[in-house]
Amino acid sequence: MKRNQLFKTKLKTMKRGHEETSSSSSPPHSKPRLSSHNGEDHGVEDDSTKSLARKVADHYSSRSNQTLEEREASPIIHMKKLNNWIKSVLIQLYTHRDDVVLDLACGKGGDLIKWDKARIGYYVGVDIADGSIEDCRTRYNGETDQIHRRKRFSFPARLICADCYEVPLDKALQDDAPFDICSCQFALHYSWSTEERARQALENVSSLLRPGGTFIGTMPDANVIVKKLREAEGLTFGNSVYWISFDEEYTKKKFKSSRPFGIQYKFHLEDAVDCPEWLVPFHIFKELAKEYGLELVFKKNSHEFVNEYIKKPEFAELMRRLGALGDGSGDGRTLSEDEWEASYLYLVFVMRKSGQGDSLKKNTQRRSLSQIRQEDVMYLPCQP
Ligand code: SAH
Repeated sequence: MKRNQLFKTKLKTMKRGHEETSSSSSPPHSKPRLSSHNGEDHGVEDDSTKSLARKVADHYSSRSNQTLEEREASPIIHMKKLNNWIKSVLIQLYTHRDDVVLDLACGKGGDLIKWDKARIGYYVGVDIADGSIEDCRTRYNGETDQIHRRKRFSFPARLICADCYEVPLDKALQDDAPFDICSCQFALHYSWSTEERARQALENVSSLLRPGGTFIGTMPDANVIVKKLREAEGLTFGNSVYWISFDEEYTKKKFKSSRPFGIQYKFHLEDAVDCPEWLVPFHIFKELAKEYGLELVFKKNSHEFVNEYIKKPEFAELMRRLGALGDGSGDGRTLSEDEWEASYLYLVFVMRKSGQGDSLKKNTQRRSLSQIRQEDVMYLPCQP
């Protein structure tokens, strides 16, 4: 198939550089704390960490819902569709009917339809950006233009506005837990500004998932980013749809494995992202997650994931329907080389919470199907 060949050739070219970087050669020796703590260290929680979290929240809050026409005109429309395909495949692979779902950093609820198709039983979405939570609320209620004529979602839902890398969620969600699935799409890297935040993220996932429950996600692939940084002449690199810029302090382009948190860069993705982000060295993430009883099932770069699952007829059909590779009309509109390269910046992961759990024993106290009113949204304050 021509399309598969395209991916294969692209994958081959891209894959060459996709090896572990020296910054990720060995996991930390000691378990309890991964970075040393003094006032000068990166990764120490302080006002600037909080203000950066606010900056991220404000960035996403200010991005208003696009109309269908605006969306189709986006320079990264095919990449957006490809990302939707990746998330749909992940959701279809790991979700069972009636599952109870926790969507961490749910954004504007872009995955609500995917969860509906998977026939989940209940949904809780959490995001730091109040503007996004409001969009998610109206989308769930069917008040958004795009899905106005769409049938209502078939699962009850609850929305929470909170910094889920700062605030323990267990109390607020005690009547909803345990969850069968926790999903964190294109967002976990925002927890990696400090070790405390990364730990709080994992603590929230772990404490809310049932034993045997699944944690699925997508985030930037630090190996690819570091490799591209090292290949670049300066500290900035990118193409027509994205750029990444590191600060002067990383002039040597070396990252100590003893300081795996707080490695900040500026990320710009046309029509999507423009804010500070943090590298997540995957081997450290994997080790840390283990401490919270989360075992890695797999990690794949987006390209590898696409090439593997597009071979399955049902997912190839879904790709056709979503139109990530164009609509087949031969009008030349398809995923551009630059979008495909940008999608190489991301990876897909799946983890499983240790222990055996009964997926059929559902919490019966959950709410019944209804609209979410503004006053139903719970706001959880950050700790002072
Ligand atoms: N998961 C959604 C949104 C991805 S965009 C999707 O795939 O469409 C990244 C999201 O992470 C934004 O909505 C942003 O507000 C959210 N986010 C960033 N930092 C966060 C934090 N500390 N707590 C909760 N959400 C956060």
